Amino acid sequence: MRIDIVTIFPKYLAPLELSLIGRARRAGLVEIAVHDLRDFTHDRHRTVDDAPAGGGAGMVMRPEPWGEVLDRLCAPGGDDPSGADAPTPTLLVPSPSGERFDQPMAHELAGLERIAFACGRYEGIDERVLDEAATRMSVRPVSLGDYVLNGGEVAALAIIEAVVRLLPGVVGNAESLLEESHEGHLLEYPVYTRPATWRGREVPEVLASGHHARIAAWRHEQRLRRTARRRPDLIAAWLAEHRPTERELQILREEGHEQDRGS
Ligand code: SAM
Repeated sequence: MRIDIVTIFPKYLAPLELSLIGRARRAGLVEIAVHDLRDFTHDRHRTVDDAPAGGGAGMVMRPEPWGEVLDRLCAPGGDDPSGADAPTPTLLVPSPSGERFDQPMAHELAGLERIAFACGRYEGIDERVLDEAATRMSVRPVSLGDYVLNGGEVAALAIIEAVVRLLPGVVGNAESLLEESHEGHLLEYPVYTRPATWRGREVPEVLASGHHARIAAWRHEQRLRRTARRRPDLIAAWLAEHRPTERELQILREEGHEQDRGS
């Protein structure tokens, strides 16, 4: 996968050198390039913003440098070490008014060969940039959640981390991805390690039993209980895809979840 990030704060993306993503880059599993939007300006002050049309508070990002950097990303082989055959990227535009990012979208993006991020600042990017980009690439405004950040960089970091860890070979034990929170609409079960007793608190006995079926049943029950308690909104999606057993319905009732289909 190839990822391009356009920003006025390239240093914000420095953590992409670290940990699993840094290792994946060095192993050639993902290629990441950060572009400074100001390199696409032509005035002495490298200006990227201007007053909002129609008046009002704040500043808006001017379209010209965005147009030029996107031309570069779309040009065959342009600024792209992977060569002339590289596909046009899907352009993700972090925005609090975008489609909400979630695990299914992470899976979808992980299946793409190339994505790019247009990281806005100030009051955002002149809308014509998105309209014009949409004539030559897929453009997706995407929100990290229902709150407002100062810029798109933190959103890009979060999305890249969620996507890259799904690429084959990035996470050592691929099995660990299967039961994680938000896979199959349930949250993950609680996890424990040594010592068996810590400050008077025990690791649940079943986990030391060595009995794989009992451990799996306990973990499934914990996933269901935790989801019903913390994220009851996810249970409806889980019920839509599963025919619950009597035991599962009982667990949901115990956790105060009333919409137990079929009872
Ligand atoms: N005026 C904009 C609005 O009300 O929709 C908010 C602009 S915000 C201060 C500046 C930039 O931060 C946005 O252009 C976007 O790139 C990024 N941003 C803010 N909140 C975000 C969120 N929840 N998800 C993704 N990006 C966000």
